[in-house]
Amino acid sequence: MMATNGKEAGGLTDGVLSVSSNGSSVDVANSVVVNGAGTGGAPSHSKVQNGGTVAAQRFTFSPEPTIEDIRRLQAEFTDERNWNQFHQPRNLLMAMVGEVGEVAELFQWRGEVAEGLPDWTESEREHLAHELSDVLIYLVELAEKCRVDLPQAVLRKMALNRLKYPASKVHGSAKKYTEYKD
Ligand SMILES: [Mg+2]
Repeated sequence: MMATNGKEAGGLTDGVLSVSSNGSSVDVANSVVVNGAGTGGAPSHSKVQNGGTVAAQRFTFSPEPTIEDIRRLQAEFTDERNWNQFHQPRNLLMAMVGEVGEVAELFQWRGEVAEGLPDWTESEREHLAHELSDVLIYLVELAEKCRVDLPQAVLRKMALNRLKYPASKVHGSAKKYTEYKD
């Protein structure tokens, strides 16, 4: 609801980015099934029986838009409204945190929620999709205004995470990295 200047941050859902509005559907062609028990066509939160092992089907995103696409679309949206005067890094950070709060509101008082949100209505899922998108849009614009090349930065950070949490040491454990230091 709340967005910069009292208006919606995005405006990206009305056709321009319809490719991303596949909701909770599964990209069957690219779906990955743990243990190789591929059936295809099942919802992402369904379970697949495979020789006594129940494996969750892996949910995947659409390949587009890219993060750069999102940066460009939001830059166009902001330019068209002469809103760059308001979109300094600190303001964008505040806006993003506000949107994170809006995501949290949707989960508030529900107790634990199962993966795939099986008990949520379509309307609730769409509301969540909107608020997560607001967070992403502000995150991407914040990175742009801070001159952080986010797609490359995330690769560098994930490489660091792999070093910090070697799979052989932390498999199945939630311990903090400091507890693994020799
Ligand atoms: Mg919002």
